[in-house]
Amino acid sequence: MIPDESKSVIQEIHDPILDKKHVRVLIKRDDLIHSEISGNKWRKLKYNIDAARKEGHHTLLTFGGAFSNHVLAVASSGKEFKLKTIGVIRGEVNYSDNPTLSHCKAMGMKLHFVSREQYKFKNEAAFIDELKSKFGEFFIIPEGGTNCLAMKGCQELAESIEIPFDIFCCSVGTGGTLSGILSSKLPIKNAIGFSALKGDFLKREVQDILKRCNQEVSSNWDINTHYHFGGYAKFDDSLVGFINKFYTSYGIPLDPIYTGKMLFGIFDLINKDYFQTGTTILALHSGGLQGNRGFNILHDQAIVFE
Ligand SMILES: *Cc1c(COP(=O)(O)O)cnc(C)c1O
Repeated sequence: MIPDESKSVIQEIHDPILDKKHVRVLIKRDDLIHSEISGNKWRKLKYNIDAARKEGHHTLLTFGGAFSNHVLAVASSGKEFKLKTIGVIRGEVNYSDNPTLSHCKAMGMKLHFVSREQYKFKNEAAFIDELKSKFGEFFIIPEGGTNCLAMKGCQELAESIEIPFDIFCCSVGTGGTLSGILSSKLPIKNAIGFSALKGDFLKREVQDILKRCNQEVSSNWDINTHYHFGGYAKFDDSLVGFINKFYTSYGIPLDPIYTGKMLFGIFDLINKDYFQTGTTILALHSGGLQGNRGFNILHDQAIVFE
């Protein structure tokens, strides 16, 4: 099945706390675009796949961790668009049979495991040459899928939003999605990116991506670094509890790596009266639900999501 952007509806959350605080929360359901090539990963891959085909490539090669939403999206796109795929996977050979990587293999992706040490050289010419001598010619899609072609797909995402809102919110990993949103033609008043990683380097990173892709760097946005729960893929019971309550209350499944942290942050800020009365928030559900299967195997079926 080809990803279908028209499935990405905007859904309002109804909750007494939102009435009490006079804040509206709308969710842009990019998770509904496709079950595997979901959310921002489809938006980021779209023009990369076009470019690969136009340049006459038959193989996509990309990089990622053992639970990567991006690697799975590439594997699944390869099957859908009849391109071969190679995944260069960071360490963790013992995870080669987890749900994400098993599914990648089932989609025909060749997996190539490298140590965490080697993985650091993934952008170096010598490392790429070695991969070329092993696998032949390929079109490279960077880790997380973030490049200027990816930004274009995310600009389109923003431009497809026809409902007025005050603040755009999304989760941030590499910053590619937020960069696309910020450089779109949609006149965004204000945006907050919720960092899924520990540290305060992502604001700089988003500015750098925008510059690299010849886009203006505006100042109507910020990165919130308070809801990473200890770092990438770290979590606690309060986050898992929030995700499960969100699903039972509103019927919207979240993931613990990205969208769960963002919405936890949004609701925490609403409770703390961070947003002005009358604010409408539009939060991007960037997908990533495939990772819940692997998470649940490691963490005792903690997340209820389907
Ligand atoms: C990869 C991913 C992100 C992070 O997007 P970036 O463009 O890397 O910032 C956010 N949400 C989900 C569900 C993802 O899979």
